[in-house]
Amino acid sequence: MRLEELVKKLNQEFEVKAYGADPAFKRFLPAAYESVSFDWEAAFEEEFTSYFNGLMIRGASEVEQVFLAVFPTDHVLERFIKEGKPGDLLFMHHPLLMECGDPQGEWRRGFVPIQPGLIEQLKEKQLSVYTCHIPLDYHPSLGTSAAMAAALGMTVTDGFLANDRGEHLILIGEIEEINSPELKETLQSVFSIPYVDCEGPSLEKIRKIAVVAGCGDKVEWMEEAEKKGAQAYITGEIHCHIDSEYGRERFSKMMAYASGTGMSLIGVSHAASEYLVKKTLMKDWFEQNMGLNTTLLPQEKWWL
Ligand SMILES: [Zn+2]
Repeated sequence: MRLEELVKKLNQEFEVKAYGADPAFKRFLPAAYESVSFDWEAAFEEEFTSYFNGLMIRGASEVEQVFLAVFPTDHVLERFIKEGKPGDLLFMHHPLLMECGDPQGEWRRGFVPIQPGLIEQLKEKQLSVYTCHIPLDYHPSLGTSAAMAAALGMTVTDGFLANDRGEHLILIGEIEEINSPELKETLQSVFSIPYVDCEGPSLEKIRKIAVVAGCGDKVEWMEEAEKKGAQAYITGEIHCHIDSEYGRERFSKMMAYASGTGMSLIGVSHAASEYLVKKTLMKDWFEQNMGLNTTLLPQEKWWL
């Protein structure tokens, strides 16, 4: 398939231009690359430098294989560079790695840029990179939270944080009745993670849940979900372990809330929560709608 055509299809499906500049990455991307004195405006596709979503690095004009990953870790990029052929495209959620720390290990750095040396190698090998953040989070049938709902057999009945079209970032709905330990076990297997992070009470009966991929560690969101009747709140990070003043402040706010909540709060890691859509809905979309072969590039570590 021609790269031009695939990019057009992706831009249309995710309405990249209608969303305008990505609210998170228009702030974080320049800061991250400038911190290593890397000329990101010259390195990335011109359109990408205004939307912060879409085709970021342009490779050869014919795409044979699409690789799917969530964050540009060194491991993911090295595999793509090794296994990809000129023209192959890497589809990711983030143009920057985000380290949120390990609940059973170290606190980490937050946003980390791709190593300039790896960007050079991607270009030398004529590989393409396409990233899609907010438009993928909100997409009603291909979204990060939509993938979580689908994998948990959840009937979505409500939600909040709507975009212009009334599509919700946080989804609320019902699942088959389950208790907290069973729910944790289910999540560990759905997200292929070694352990979950949890706070709040262990409940006997859970039917109504709220899901949001990524950093759902915002007390206001948890309060709203609880008000809407959710008994469990499932997200990537229930509390980030980012080693900065910002990280520590967020963590203590969340711990104060957790001590009084009636909900089971469960984190499955930022990376794994956003990778799910790649291995399910996006993989099918590329294969069935675009007729392309895909390769999954899971991370070597999810809690990182
Ligand atoms: Zn994210």
